[in-house]
Amino acid sequence: MPEPGNPQALNRYAYVLNNPLRYTDPTGNWEYEEVDPYAERDLIVGIRRDYGIRVVSEDAKWSISELQCLRQAMDKFPMHKIGRDALKQIVRKIGTDPYTAGEYKSSYGPAGVGTTLIYDNAFDPGYIARFGLSPDTGSLQIISHELVHPYQHTGGKGQKLSDEEAFTKVQSSYGSKLSWKEDIRKLEGWSIGKAHRYPSTSPWMEYGNANPTEDQGVAVALFMWDRARLQSVSPLRVDLIRKEFFPHGYY
Ligand SMILES: [Zn+2]
Repeated sequence: MPEPGNPQALNRYAYVLNNPLRYTDPTGNWEYEEVDPYAERDLIVGIRRDYGIRVVSEDAKWSISELQCLRQAMDKFPMHKIGRDALKQIVRKIGTDPYTAGEYKSSYGPAGVGTTLIYDNAFDPGYIARFGLSPDTGSLQIISHELVHPYQHTGGKGQKLSDEEAFTKVQSSYGSKLSWKEDIRKLEGWSIGKAHRYPSTSPWMEYGNANPTEDQGVAVALFMWDRARLQSVSPLRVDLIRKEFFPHGYY
């Protein structure tokens, strides 16, 4: 930590210049949080600068590794497709529901702004294992899933949509003439009458059966971080997500 009374301690660039070796990691045992006291502020300021979104701690503090995870998910996600009003802030909060890792609220707090909440479960290896997520990308998948919801709440002119309008937007992306489940069955070539399920079962993938907005959230997260798994159960879905979310290549 910087020493009080040392004016250089307030200048992170001097800090870097005077400690160049601290920014290399020959051993692999380097602990970012202990070395760079400015890392947390830099990540929060960087997200605000690059995406115009506030990163806030409510009753739980973001750790450096959690912020890095958030940044990584945002950098890979098509953030330009999320309207400013649909996502003003991302809040770190203590979780109270054992089944919930994150949540989107189109109106949250006294200001009533579009908010994504990230709970303890999003970073809990036990939760990630229970939901059948990969230990390496589970947190990234959860955060990416939560970024799909404000995307769903963004209209064609960038305006924030109501929950009902968002639901309609997602349903229509699956086709306007059929209901969501019928449409999915048709897309996947599954027989009508059989419950819609991802062919590979994990609680995470089955969660996609809850409704169209959750289905799309799970599928996009798999597309981004566990492509082979999505490809193996639903190649058609991979194509649909690429067209809607990543039309200009990139992946
Ligand atoms: Zn969701």
